[in-house]
Amino acid sequence: MSVIDAEPVAKASAIPYENRRTFAIISHPDAGKTTLTEKLLLSGGAIRAAGQVRARGERRRARSDWMKIEQERGISVSSSVMTFERDGIVFNLLDTPGHEDFSEDTYRTLTAVDAAIMVIDAAKGIEAQTRKLFEVCRLRDIPIITFVNKIDREGRHPLEALDEIQEALALDVTPMTWPVGMGSDFFGVYDWKNKLFRTSSGDRGGPFDTVKPVTGLDDEQLTGVVFDRVMEELTENVELGSEAYPEFDREAFLEGHMTPVFFGSALRDYGIDEVISFIARHGPSPHSQPATGRRILPGEDKVSGFVFKVQANMDPKHRDRIAFVRLCSGTFKRGMKLKHVRASKQIAVTAPIFFFAEEREIAETAYPGDVIGIPNHGQLRVGDTLTEGEDIHVTGLPAFAPEVLRRVRLSDTMRVKQMRQGLEDLAEEGLVQIFKPAIGSNWIVGVVGVLQLDVVVERLRQEYSTEIGFDAVQYNTARWVEADDDLVLKKFLEANRVNVANDRDDKPVFLFKSAWEVNYISEKNPDIRFRETREIV
Ligand code: GDP
Repeated sequence: MSVIDAEPVAKASAIPYENRRTFAIISHPDAGKTTLTEKLLLSGGAIRAAGQVRARGERRRARSDWMKIEQERGISVSSSVMTFERDGIVFNLLDTPGHEDFSEDTYRTLTAVDAAIMVIDAAKGIEAQTRKLFEVCRLRDIPIITFVNKIDREGRHPLEALDEIQEALALDVTPMTWPVGMGSDFFGVYDWKNKLFRTSSGDRGGPFDTVKPVTGLDDEQLTGVVFDRVMEELTENVELGSEAYPEFDREAFLEGHMTPVFFGSALRDYGIDEVISFIARHGPSPHSQPATGRRILPGEDKVSGFVFKVQANMDPKHRDRIAFVRLCSGTFKRGMKLKHVRASKQIAVTAPIFFFAEEREIAETAYPGDVIGIPNHGQLRVGDTLTEGEDIHVTGLPAFAPEVLRRVRLSDTMRVKQMRQGLEDLAEEGLVQIFKPAIGSNWIVGVVGVLQLDVVVERLRQEYSTEIGFDAVQYNTARWVEADDDLVLKKFLEANRVNVANDRDDKPVFLFKSAWEVNYISEKNPDIRFRETREIV
């Protein structure tokens, strides 16, 4: 497909926060996230030709050497933000990496969205990664819209697909549309609520371009066109479906208890309009944000926001880092001074960036739900809160106990300073966690997925001219340790110095050799809490 360099059509004009929708797409690799993203952007006029999302990814990858790793592995490590406007609604679509080794990044991105679209392959159903990401959404009560993709191919029976979602995820499902045949019998999609038959003016199963209002399933526009066996099945599905599943309940959806299900084919443009119109109409609009002491409401006058992601190397010409800030409240104006709460410092946000599908541009105004990029040289890190002066921390951004631990091996001991700086920087970006053992000087790094280690090696080589390797350690997980009584904690740490390390914020962790040991030590030390996650503040 050709790439047309289009002017970004979207302008985040003065649309109030209530009409802003910030969401992400979650899926197992290959279910169709990229294709759906692209089609949503096309429908919002944010890009003008299919193929651009992938092409943009390739251009970006080509720009920077360390991203070779992405290319080699065929995965996207970076996430980004795509903003577009349609029918008076501003959509902020936050991209997430597909590979599970980068799931920490995805978890944090999910802290910055108000809703998620879960894409499922009609033939494969719910796969491992979808389930994992779904659990994160559930923890945060994020409303989920389900998109059963690839109905232009042979897939499972629609009722079976609905039952699987309901049972596997323990969620009420409500079908919003039905496929009209699948695979070689595919004719389109039936919107049973609005009585619309969405089909192609071309051959059977061709790309969606026609909406036919019908009087019902006995309308001759359907019966005369669609195979009888397909009509029979559709009629049965609609009848059974309306008895077996509850009606759409907006409240239940917003609370994360019910998922509306759309059947579609991202490749052939079915289901895109339905999903986007649904989000526009039913929301949610930006939610309130949990913080220390209170919740921050989007309607508050004062500006606040938090960093959910830090990305280096967006522009290799400048060794800058961009902190992605989700605004929680107030109307942000360019040039504003905001308080960096952790550092207790004012920072002037003179060159905030807005992200469009095609390019970045300077933001003048932003509203709750929007994401702005703040270029910086390392002052801002994941979890930081920005306010107009209030000492408040946004909560709910966890660091996860690493599942892979390695000791860092440095080839050239003269470069210990660069290595440490590099690792500290990458830890601030949230790519790795670093642990400094109480005994010994070699740092231990922790990650959730091993591919993160490859990225660390490559980036230290490229950006810090430092060659490192990793050695196995006897530990395989870490837990943050806490106790109500400081003295008890101190005694415990002293008695266990061999297994204790400090994280980058000097918070103590206990390094364990096995899951069995976690249980054993926890049972023997009832006054100590061993935590799998830690709030980043
Ligand atoms: P991602 O890994 O989830 O981003 O998936 P992609 O969007 O890259 O899609 C994976 C593959 O499935 C690609 O070859 C797509 O062309 C194909 N695909 C995506 N959506 C559809 C669809 O609706 N129908 C069919 N037949 N193929 C699709």
